[in-house]
Amino acid sequence: MRVVVVEDDAGMAEAVIDGLREHGFGAVDHLSHGLDLLTSYTAYDAVILDLGLPDLNGYLVLRQLRKVSDIPVVVLTAEGDESAVVSCLRAGADDYMVKPPRIGELAARLESITRRWRAAEPEQAVVVSGDVTVNLTTRSIEVAGEPISLTQKEFAVCRVLVEHVGVPVGRDKIITEVWGARTPPNSRSLDVHMGALRAKLNRPGLIVTIHGFGYRWSR
Ligand code: CA
Repeated sequence: MRVVVVEDDAGMAEAVIDGLREHGFGAVDHLSHGLDLLTSYTAYDAVILDLGLPDLNGYLVLRQLRKVSDIPVVVLTAEGDESAVVSCLRAGADDYMVKPPRIGELAARLESITRRWRAAEPEQAVVVSGDVTVNLTTRSIEVAGEPISLTQKEFAVCRVLVEHVGVPVGRDKIITEVWGARTPPNSRSLDVHMGALRAKLNRPGLIVTIHGFGYRWSR
């Protein structure tokens, strides 16, 4: 897998590249300008994209990139820049991390989203997160070895999250997949079902809220 780090801060780029190599990513390239990515993205399997770039800011790079490619992109943001995170997720970023990123976590997230991107692989039917096991084929969930009972809609909400393990999923996407496109995107139904699902799972932190965007099933 070839990864490219788009970052103009040489020290930050070096730290990320060295860290990824230590985590087994053999081919990691460096670009310091956004426009360079737009002419070379086909050479890569995943992108780590800084938002503060000297020529074209990362958000605009991402929007241009998404017109031509669905390559996995992890955005690096400054701490506290929540509105930028939400904009990037809406523009098609697969994930984000606050700088300086914990490299082990960055590596895990890269592996997760690129695994999903290789669409040739069949969907994973059983997802195990800690002591929670979700079987999408039999539509069953076990917590600490005990089956729990979900309504049809609760399971549907759970399914959308589990199908994107480790990746933020927008509220609009969940609502469209569970209730269909005609439901108003501000539907409170999602909050109700999410609350019930969380209560039944009883595993705080398993479903992470991303304020202003949606949710993520942590692994
Ligand atoms: Ca920068």
